[in-house]
Amino acid sequence: MPQMSALTELYKEIERCQDCELAKHRTRVVPGEGSEEADLLFIGEAPGWHEDQQGRPFVGPAGQFLDELLSSIGLKRNQVYIANVIKCRPPGNRDPAPSEIQACSKWLDLQIELIRPKMIVTLGRYSMARYFPNQSISKIHGTTKKEANIIYYAMYHPAAALHQGSLRQVIGNDMLKIPQILAQADNLTETQPESKQLSLF
Ligand code: SF4
Repeated sequence: MPQMSALTELYKEIERCQDCELAKHRTRVVPGEGSEEADLLFIGEAPGWHEDQQGRPFVGPAGQFLDELLSSIGLKRNQVYIANVIKCRPPGNRDPAPSEIQACSKWLDLQIELIRPKMIVTLGRYSMARYFPNQSISKIHGTTKKEANIIYYAMYHPAAALHQGSLRQVIGNDMLKIPQILAQADNLTETQPESKQLSLF
């Protein structure tokens, strides 16, 4: 019998998780999917109705747009990794509670440890808050920072373009910058924490 990969074993654990209220409401857990060798990890918010039904991330209309965006830089889903901050659908697509985000964050941490991506792209506010706290997406979309050898890059959530058509091009342009950033990943210098920068003066 083939050995299960560490990531597949992790999926089994996530599927059994009852660590927050959302376990009671889910149809299926949505751990994430894609290449275990991915250089690029996209992190969205939480599963919606389609994702909850299928147990896969980004399979509704926003997912179709994400597929188009990936295709614009010559990539398919199976060449990247796609996950969410929250693994179970909040009922009625309500915002996840801070306690739910906290309870679920260990799973994403473990996924990142196993995949070891070169670049993490945040899609939407919850994943942005994880890596760019207290920032505004309108100011920082399309910009990078590098910490502990990982590049973090903030983008609007693809669903935003479905509600506000003018964002479609903004999101498309931000996606087009990714290949060049990734190609230069090793040469980008680490971003200094604010406190260290301040201590220079
Ligand atoms: S949302 Fe996360 S923490 Fe809550 S039950 Fe699902 S997997 Fe567990």
